[in-house]
Amino acid sequence: MSKRAYNFNAGPAALPLAVLERAQAEFVDFKETGMSIMEMSHRGKVYEEVHNEAASRLLKLLGNPEGYKVLFLQGGATTQFAMLPMNFLGEGKKAGYVKTGSWANKALKEAKLIGETFVAASSEEDKYMSIPDLSKLELPENTAYLHITSNETIEGTQFQAYPDTGSVPLIADMSSDILCRPFDLTQFGVVYAGAQKNLGPSGVTVVIAREELLQNSPKHLPTYFRYDTHTENNSLYNTPPSFSIYMVNEVLKWIEEQGSLKGIEQKNLEKANLLYQTIDSSGGFYRGCANTADRSIMNVTFRLASEELEKQFVKQSELEGFIGLKGHRSVGGLRASIYNAVPYDSVKALVDFMNEFQKANG
Ligand SMILES: *Cc1c(COP(=O)(O)O)cnc(C)c1O
Repeated sequence: MSKRAYNFNAGPAALPLAVLERAQAEFVDFKETGMSIMEMSHRGKVYEEVHNEAASRLLKLLGNPEGYKVLFLQGGATTQFAMLPMNFLGEGKKAGYVKTGSWANKALKEAKLIGETFVAASSEEDKYMSIPDLSKLELPENTAYLHITSNETIEGTQFQAYPDTGSVPLIADMSSDILCRPFDLTQFGVVYAGAQKNLGPSGVTVVIAREELLQNSPKHLPTYFRYDTHTENNSLYNTPPSFSIYMVNEVLKWIEEQGSLKGIEQKNLEKANLLYQTIDSSGGFYRGCANTADRSIMNVTFRLASEELEKQFVKQSELEGFIGLKGHRSVGGLRASIYNAVPYDSVKALVDFMNEFQKANG
């Protein structure tokens, strides 16, 4: 086999090698059925077991809090941007959004198409390089929910603590940092994530929500866009993305093997600390983009003195086997996405490269 790439892609992103190998071994003949899991009915016992196992494993990793349910949906986190207000933003209500960057803004844009919104807090003035202080947040009485983006994948910022919203449901887009460390699910009404960053391959979106929020969707909503449809049908109303859900289950097993969320957090901190220390100790050759206290441990954004030098960095890194270090086209600069599945050795190889690059160009 050729060498595995040093993969720092933002999404779809690296998957654990052990999971890929396991899937490979089971690819043609799943559990002696003579079929791939992709070839079998989603109504059959064999698939349904995997489907239910993925949901229960996810809740177990989050401490099995009472009254929560997992849904497996399609259309990405992007479809959730619309489904949330469609289901929760009724007449006379307003949805609050915390504007932290590119993804928060996309979520807000969709909500505005559906109903009334307000900006509860924003870091726009700071060019989205920080997370606003939400400790003294006051929400109007008719607030339907407060929406946050726990990790801004493009800017490289991450919430370190979540706001207390009292009886107003807190909703988080956790697409790029779900399961990167332990968190208290009971603080949230809904948590959702496209799988392709920290949970598995693209094609499935995970929604974890308090059960009472998943019932009684507004009557006029089309069937697929109603949370109650998926709740009542155990995410099997129509054909689910069965292979992606199988992969999510395998990734969740792998997380358990890493010492569950505490173990994963430890490894993520080691990777992020190594990379940020390299940036911070470069004497200004590398400059971290995000406010230090709000730095993401998943998406590390940094810059060099000129765009020219950044281009050279990307080019040179690609020649040496590093993938995905170019920043998002909307913000430029450089970005290393170091999700759960990115091994420490990849980050070690990256900082070695960074040190060499600085020596040659500093
Ligand atoms: C990638 C990403 C999305 C978009 O997810 P899709 O599954 O492609 O719709 C939304 N929010 C965040 C924070 C992301 O990182």
